[in-house]
Amino acid sequence: MTAPLTSPIPLADPGVYRTLLESTRAIPWRIDWATMRFTYIGPQIEELLGWSPSSWLSVNDWADRIHEEDRQKTVDYCVAQSQQGIDHEADYRALTRDGDHVWIRDVVHVVRGEVGSVDSLVGFMFDITARKHSEDKILQLQRELEVLSYRDSLTNVANRRMFDTLYPVEWAKARVTAEPLSIVVIDIDYFKQYNDHYGHMQGDECLRRVAQALDAGASRSRDLCARLGGEEFVLLLPATDEEAARNVAERCRKLLGQSAIPHARSGVGRLVTVSMGVGTIVPGAEDNPDVFMDRIDRRLYQAKSAGRDRICDAEA
Ligand code: GH3
Ligand code: MG
Ligand code: MG
Repeated sequence: MTAPLTSPIPLADPGVYRTLLESTRAIPWRIDWATMRFTYIGPQIEELLGWSPSSWLSVNDWADRIHEEDRQKTVDYCVAQSQQGIDHEADYRALTRDGDHVWIRDVVHVVRGEVGSVDSLVGFMFDITARKHSEDKILQLQRELEVLSYRDSLTNVANRRMFDTLYPVEWAKARVTAEPLSIVVIDIDYFKQYNDHYGHMQGDECLRRVAQALDAGASRSRDLCARLGGEEFVLLLPATDEEAARNVAERCRKLLGQSAIPHARSGVGRLVTVSMGVGTIVPGAEDNPDVFMDRIDRRLYQAKSAGRDRICDAEA
């Protein structure tokens, strides 16, 4: 079987092709390889960029109208691909005549002559500005979401997820550097009674103010204050020895005292207070972060049973 010599569909005359090309949203163009000059560019270019078709003479006009941050790499890439005869695509910002820019995707086909050498480049420019903007928007939303997902929405300090992420990291760092790592676990005293007496809304406000005091107390740049849940918080204090950790805990208590949040139903006084468990470790190969955390939790429990409103930093 041989293929028929003539196509069953008659070829349209060149006028039809021109009409088709010039009515699409993509902008067609052709560059002669030997002279590096445009031999054609669709009239739609003027509506998109403001430069008239007759102003596109050589590849320099194209290069000059690329945003300077994209120019070099776009030109280098397109020239290299074309020289090798490889069809390619490039995204870049094209400058508009009024000083703005438009995102373009240029899809380039390399046309070869009879002996295989490059004859010309033909391509389409697509306006991808809207797509680029929505991609940027998605990236920005993703970043915001990431920030939000590590933050406690009630108190605006870090949340448990952040602590769970950072604790192993700081633990590993402390193992390598042999620097002491300290942790303070904090629980509000008689908070159930506070809620019962003042209501849940004011309970929430109290949580915010306690978080503020704790966050201010742990003031070094690598310190982390996180809400673990309910009325329980944690301070993660890298490169902090026992004495320094005790000082941070004391400072937090002092700051909370200065906030002077009334608590008419507290069992230890007239103001909101906290109990704290504090611990310090230079982690060794045998140590385990969960075991260390349990030890500090037991100290918090000791502070509670010893009367609350206090810091416990050693086993009884
Ligand atoms: P203790 O001194 O032994 O810590 O007693 P407590 O009353 O503070 O502890 P308990 O665990 O019995 O009560 C904690 C209370 O914290 C219970 C709940 O009403 C309150 N709570 C937990 N999460 C929230 C919250 O997000 N908002 C408010 N307003 N209250 C909360
Ligand atoms: Mg509790
Ligand atoms: Mg409590």
